Amino acid sequence: MKILVTNDDGIYSAGIAALVEALNDIAQVTVVAPQEEQSAVGHGITMKYPLRVFKYRKNGTFFGYAVEGTPADCVKMGMRNIMKESPDLVISGINHGSNTAINIIYSGTVSAAREAAIMDVPAIAISVTSHETTDFRYAGKVAKMLAQKVNEHGLPNGTLLNVNVPNLPENEIVGILVTKQSKAKWDDIYEKRIDPYGKDYYWLTGKMVEIENELHTDQVAIKNKFVSVTPIHFDLTDYETFKAMKSWDIEKKADEKA
Ligand code: MN
Repeated sequence: MKILVTNDDGIYSAGIAALVEALNDIAQVTVVAPQEEQSAVGHGITMKYPLRVFKYRKNGTFFGYAVEGTPADCVKMGMRNIMKESPDLVISGINHGSNTAINIIYSGTVSAAREAAIMDVPAIAISVTSHETTDFRYAGKVAKMLAQKVNEHGLPNGTLLNVNVPNLPENEIVGILVTKQSKAKWDDIYEKRIDPYGKDYYWLTGKMVEIENELHTDQVAIKNKFVSVTPIHFDLTDYETFKAMKSWDIEKKADEKA
């Protein structure tokens, strides 16, 4: 199996190293990852600037390709320019910090996997629920298990898996659940501060506000010490409203224009 690995924390991060280590015995791994941290850049791509690619070495050994761009740039660059053949799977992570609920939209980690799904390659995004230095070994095992499952069962074109692993020792993890994206949202707080020149500036922070308490949703599952595996897709059409809007009577042919 050929796997393209990327992330949004940067090619030097501990999470991507752990992911590569976990996948090395089941796959031929190619790393194409951002040169600098790109957390919360969403699905941005670079169009107004050139994209430079560097070979990145770790302890004197070639580790992968560092791209001066976003996570989505890395997937495009990896598939179009760096890999000779299309990968069987793209895995993005292991991210430092959870990517549940609305964070799926903001996340560079998930966007990289979504870019692969757009390019019709099955993909997994995987995150651990802590920003602190973390033991990624259990999340690495989960990534390896799911890589094998996706290889066996496949995923529909356009669908990817978003995985969140509680930051706990393996023996404290309660289990694994297939979940839905929860509706939790951020209650944003802009902390006002003053710079050395006396001018105001703002720093975004906030609290995640949970709405539902159904166990089979990503946010609730991780809170209850389960690994959460959510199948998601990028078709944003609201099919119910698509049908309901027939009654709005706004569709006109050219000769009926208001
Ligand atoms: Mn990140």
